Amino acid sequence: MKKYFYQNGLGYIYVRLSSGKYKLEHRIIVESMLNRSLKSHEVVHHINGNRADNRLNNLIVMKKGEHLKFHLRAKKRMSLFDPIPTIQYKLFK
Ligand SMILES: [Zn+2]
Repeated sequence: MKKYFYQNGLGYIYVRLSSGKYKLEHRIIVESMLNRSLKSHEVVHHINGNRADNRLNNLIVMKKGEHLKFHLRAKKRMSLFDPIPTIQYKLFK
């Protein structure tokens, strides 16, 4: 079966599952490493700020509140919802 990926306007990569639903690739990767599903209060942070860089050593699980504080404190860092204008909805196999 062909695997489809797409990158949304915020730079995140989605993977199409066999069910036809799309899921964030970094969450799939972390869940398979943890061998459990992420809880609703858990978010995956991209350490180098590149949301398309889903290598394990770039991913860290944080609690939602911690994550928000982290981004608020680090104003120089990319804010949570800054769009990445150079990346538009790309479809690739
Ligand atoms: Zn983050």
